[in-house]
This record gives sequence, structure tokens and C-alpha cells, in this order.
Amino acid sequence: MARKFFVGGNWKCNGTAEEVKKIVNTLNEAQVPSQDVVEVVVSPPYVFLPLVKSTLRSDFHVAAQNCWVKKGGAFTGEVSAEMLVNLDIPWVILGHSERRALLNESNEVDRVSNWSKVVIAYEPVWAIGTGKVASPAQAQEVHDELRKWLAKNVSADVAATTRIIYGGSVNGGNCKELGGQTDVDGFLVGGASLKPEFIDIIKAAE
Ligand code: PEP
Repeated sequence: MARKFFVGGNWKCNGTAEEVKKIVNTLNEAQVPSQDVVEVVVSPPYVFLPLVKSTLRSDFHVAAQNCWVKKGGAFTGEVSAEMLVNLDIPWVILGHSERRALLNESNEVDRVSNWSKVVIAYEPVWAIGTGKVASPAQAQEVHDELRKWLAKNVSADVAATTRIIYGGSVNGGNCKELGGQTDVDGFLVGGASLKPEFIDIIKAAE
């Protein structure tokens, strides 16, 4: 089964309401390949989720940048997955290396029970926000190893169908060659997802 190209935009802790409206306008006006070719998901900071959800074009989806992985309750400051579902937010980024480094998150908080709902992002930490990008061959080698790991530890079907995307200084200039690798199924984009070049990155799906 072909794996649909996936492009995620991780806005991190950036933006004002005005800036968010500008990014959304740029995305709304963009000519991009259809939903059959690419799945686009943007991930604004929590406070802007309702604004983005209500103004973003309907063929793009919205993700939260984190969520509480257990049921809601007495967990001050947390937002549960159930609340995201209630707001019709279908995606969440879990286990980002910035959260692991700064907030001591571990593998324990993203144990997977249903792989059909998961996209794996391979992001070399030395490439995140540094302007240093993995070569297409490096990315392909790691994605291939990740797929082999899935085949051995989960199942051949999960290995064949799970999308493995690359993140780390992806931009309009390097996306096409990276995206052309057999096992690179798209991108998780940080800095460039706040800029118009995010549209060029979406077009790498073509
Ligand atoms: C990220 O934080 O997920 C990321 C890939 O950032 P950048 O594109 O800025 O390197």
C-alpha cells in the first residue's frame, strides 16, 4: 500500500494572534497538491488551536504540540487527548526531543497501542533548528533501519504502512531531494513552517 506523503508544521512556542492569522492566510491562498497526494497538518501553540481550527482551509489539519496521555482530572496545566478529540483536533505531536531534553519526557509517555494512527518523525537532534540537515542518504539509511525495526518488533504490515517522516532544518531548498528517498514519507518542519516556504515543502510531495 502506498504511503501518503505527510507534511507537519511544528510552530513551537511562536507567534501572536496577528502573526498566526497571517500564516493561516498564506496557507489558505496556497496552491498545493490535493489531499490524495499529501496530508498537511499544522501544529500551533495550544492557545491558538481554536483560532487556527476555525480559520484554516478544510483540507489542512491541525495538531496539538503535546497532550496529557492519561484521563483528565487533577493535573494542573495539562490538556487531555479526550479534550483534543472533543475540539475535533485529530493529531498531536508526542515525545519531541525538545520536550525530552527540557522536560525530561521519556519513552514511557508515548507507548503505542494502535500503529495505524501513528506517524514516526526521525529528527537528528543536531539538525533541529541548526541549519544542518541530514543528507538524503543519511535520512534514507535511518528510515530504512526504523522500518526494519518495525518489521522485527511490531509486524511486516506496520513496517510497510507506517509513515516515517524526516525533521531537522528542512527548507524549500533541500526538501525535494530528501522527499525523493524511498523511505522518507514526508517531513516535520519547525522554523520553515512559519514562513511561506512551507508551501514549497508541501509541494515536494509531487
Ligand atoms: C522540529 O522542531 O521538529 C524541527 C524539525 O525544527 P527545524 O525544522 O526548525 O529544524
